[in-house]
Amino acid sequence: MTTKTSKKKSKRTGEVRCLNCFVRFCPPHGAEKASCPECGWEWYISWSGKLAKIRKPVWESWERQLAEIMKEANEE
Ligand SMILES: [Zn+2]
Repeated sequence: MTTKTSKKKSKRTGEVRCLNCFVRFCPPHGAEKASCPECGWEWYISWSGKLAKIRKPVWESWERQLAEIMKEANEE
């Protein structure tokens, strides 16, 4: 029985970490915005070559979510 670890230590280029739930994910290369697969929050991505970095949250989508929550809260 061979015990080869399946963990590939590939370079983490193009990977970002969600600032909301701290899950790592790879946005499509060159994408201006990317949403976290875990919590669904959207982030602006900046690229320096192959390196991705989260810049700031996409406020518009937050506002949309907030508006939906507010609407639900008011419909009691
Ligand atoms: Zn997330």
